Amino acid sequence: MISEATPPVTLRAVVENGLCIGCGLCAALAPERWAMRMTDEGRLRPAPLTAENHDADAMILAACPGAVVEAEPRGTQSDPVWGSFTHMGEAWAGDADIRYRAATGGVLTALGVHLLRSGQARFILHCGADPERPMRSRWQISETPEQVLDRAGSRYGPSDTLAGIEAALARNEPFAVIAKPCDANALRARAKADPRLDRLMVAVLVMVCGGASDLGKSQAVLEELGLREEEVTLFRYRGHGNPGPTRIETRSGEAFEKTYLDMWADEAGWRIQSRCKICPDAIGEAADIAAADIWPGGAPMGEDEGFNGVITRSPAGQALLESAVAAGDLVLGRAHSPRDYDDFQPHQVAKKHSVAARLRGLASAGQPVFAHRGLRIDALDAGDAAQEEGTCARAKAGKFRETLPEAD
Ligand SMILES: Cc1cc2nc3c(=O)[nH]c(=O)nc-3n(C[C@H](O)[C@H](O)[C@H](O)COP(=O)(O)OP(=O)(O)OC[C@H]3O[C@@H](n4cnc5c(N)ncnc54)[C@H](O)[C@@H]3O)c2cc1C
Ligand code: SF4
Ligand code: SF4
Repeated sequence: MISEATPPVTLRAVVENGLCIGCGLCAALAPERWAMRMTDEGRLRPAPLTAENHDADAMILAACPGAVVEAEPRGTQSDPVWGSFTHMGEAWAGDADIRYRAATGGVLTALGVHLLRSGQARFILHCGADPERPMRSRWQISETPEQVLDRAGSRYGPSDTLAGIEAALARNEPFAVIAKPCDANALRARAKADPRLDRLMVAVLVMVCGGASDLGKSQAVLEELGLREEEVTLFRYRGHGNPGPTRIETRSGEAFEKTYLDMWADEAGWRIQSRCKICPDAIGEAADIAAADIWPGGAPMGEDEGFNGVITRSPAGQALLESAVAAGDLVLGRAHSPRDYDDFQPHQVAKKHSVAARLRGLASAGQPVFAHRGLRIDALDAGDAAQEEGTCARAKAGKFRETLPEAD
């Protein structure tokens, strides 16, 4: 048990203690008080626009994934590591173009397209490249299948999809969200206070997530190529194959590519944000469907046609999967078991077993940590003293400290 840990009681404490992932929910709920800004470290964080009002911010903290993380079991089966699910299996987009252009096999895009075509949703809230600065990502509302496909692909940098949630709700139309697992946690927590979410949000679809790099990871690629951000017209992290190359195009017509393995060879250069290192639910337990890579051993051996793993986690997710398959928008391959996922995602298994020790380490250093519920973190605790001591030492050395950005 993490008896001495206490959750942060202000948004400032969330940010300053490295618990913020920059989801954007606070900026959506209180745009008169908070705005998302890119920090010098290349992280999207909320900047206060006025004097902080902790009483008013309490409703944000009740759903902020830096303060609370939870999921409820809604599937028909359960696994200690992989949580509640109904179906686990191979899948890919029925449309060959989606399958090719998307990050893996195009499952998330195919489901988004299916929801629009079948009339189950009127639009998708997700993220895509910022048209003005394509190395950066911003929230987007896609109303057509073409827009959903244009925004396919993994974006390995900061993304604040939930900054668009109030704009989505204000349309008063059924919609779906494609986002990260921590965004799904926040949406479920927020739904307790805002009934519009359960009424209008027909599906929450996520990727299984190894962590979000800060923008410095992308800037380092430009530096290596001798490019400035202003010159960039395309920054595609993967896709156009599975995994496909990282491709950068410039105003002068030049194009550069790096293979996925080149891009991610040096783990020290991943620049993963602090919140990700202690993430108690990077596997999408609060989503309706989670999509993953399914490379044996956890890394690609080369290029292939694109095969996702898909995990349905709720009756709504299972119904959506079946509806997409019946329409030919999605193709199912062989079934998987949680033990297959242990092989595909060894880093997620290790993380589930070490989160409790890392949170204890933070608490020992006197830092607040988020509350977590329904994620089996204490039951999976491997009691790893090295993880606990290491995290405590890093926290005491200030490695989790961040500064609240200024508005302008
Ligand atoms: C930061 C990050 C880390 C990941 N780590 C892992 C991992 O450890 N293990 C694993 O199996 N898979 C991981 N993936 C997921 C994997 O890269 C694919 O996204 C996943 O397999 C879904 O593939 P797809 O072809 O269905 O996606 P696509 O059909 O290409 O759809 C991707 C969708 O995700 C949205 N999206 C892309 N980037 C982001 C982002 N940063 N934040 C919010 N939404 C986004 C897009 O808007 C799009 O709608 C990660 C993805 C990201 C973005
Ligand atoms: S995690 Fe999200 S809601 Fe919480 S402070 Fe950061 S951006 Fe705001
Ligand atoms: S690892 Fe967790 S906190 Fe980090 S981006 Fe992924 S889901 Fe969010």
